[in-house]
Amino acid sequence: MTGALVLVATPIGNLGDLPPRAVEEFSAAALICCEDTRRTGRLLAHAGVDGARLRRVDDHTEARAAAEVVDLIAAGQRVVLVSDAGTPGVSDPGARLVDAVLDAGHEVTVVPGPVAAVAALVASGLPTDRFVFEGFLPRKGRERTRRLEAVAVEPRTVVFYESPNRIAATLGALAEVCGPQRRATVAREITKLHEEFVRGSLAELAAWASDTPKGEIVLVVEGAPPPEEASDDEVVEALRAELAGGSSARDAADAVAAALGVGRRRAYQLSLGIPGGVTPPS
Ligand code: SAM
Repeated sequence: MTGALVLVATPIGNLGDLPPRAVEEFSAAALICCEDTRRTGRLLAHAGVDGARLRRVDDHTEARAAAEVVDLIAAGQRVVLVSDAGTPGVSDPGARLVDAVLDAGHEVTVVPGPVAAVAALVASGLPTDRFVFEGFLPRKGRERTRRLEAVAVEPRTVVFYESPNRIAATLGALAEVCGPQRRATVAREITKLHEEFVRGSLAELAAWASDTPKGEIVLVVEGAPPPEEASDDEVVEALRAELAGGSSARDAADAVAAALGVGRRRAYQLSLGIPGGVTPPS
């Protein structure tokens, strides 16, 4: 093994989900960076790894830890980064350490494994072909409003992390901006004893959440439906306006196609029926 920073995913509830390769990397590491040394110590004991050197790295200490991590890797050592649960760097510390190691010209690699967002997405029953990860929404303020409004028109499935105390308010706010019928899934306590997937409309889930569910939660929300195609009448009206403004027939069709998101061919065909509009080619 050559010197590298190794991002190692760890279980999000069920210890049986520790990737087998994680144990190899724990055993080989000169240093294991973690959020909580006691918690990671218990995981190492479960994995049968003794004598590992642990260093606490969180949002405040990540930059300082980077110097030691880079030195160790430059000397050919493996340094492991784990978070409390799941994949480091996903709503968890990690990005700064990755930047520092890459900036110093060293290798960064990964032992992939549990990520709550992906586990919730694939079990949600909502489309998985295209999705976006929103992480935690801001609790209040303009940025929260801006992000909620963006979700309302986002065509891809959206995945959020949310606390049990705020899930009812977030579902209510989403029902307001996206409409109460938009489908969603609350994934609670994934891989744990009380794992639960609650599937329904945003309005139904907001009512369900009013009792303040317990445990860890991922919220998956269906993407916005595609905007309705403009009717023939709407296209003709827009074409008339363009033609009346002096546009040539082709320019009018191009402009209307772009403005209404309809096909240029369709716009041109419709222009043929407008008296005084386009003269069909003889
Ligand atoms: N790095 C982690 C990952 O890869 O998923 C996420 C860490 S973030 C600080 C913690 C949030 O992840 C929780 O508040 C919850 O939204 C979600 N989460 C983590 N474990 C979960 C689980 N077992 N069930 C549901 N959500 C979970």
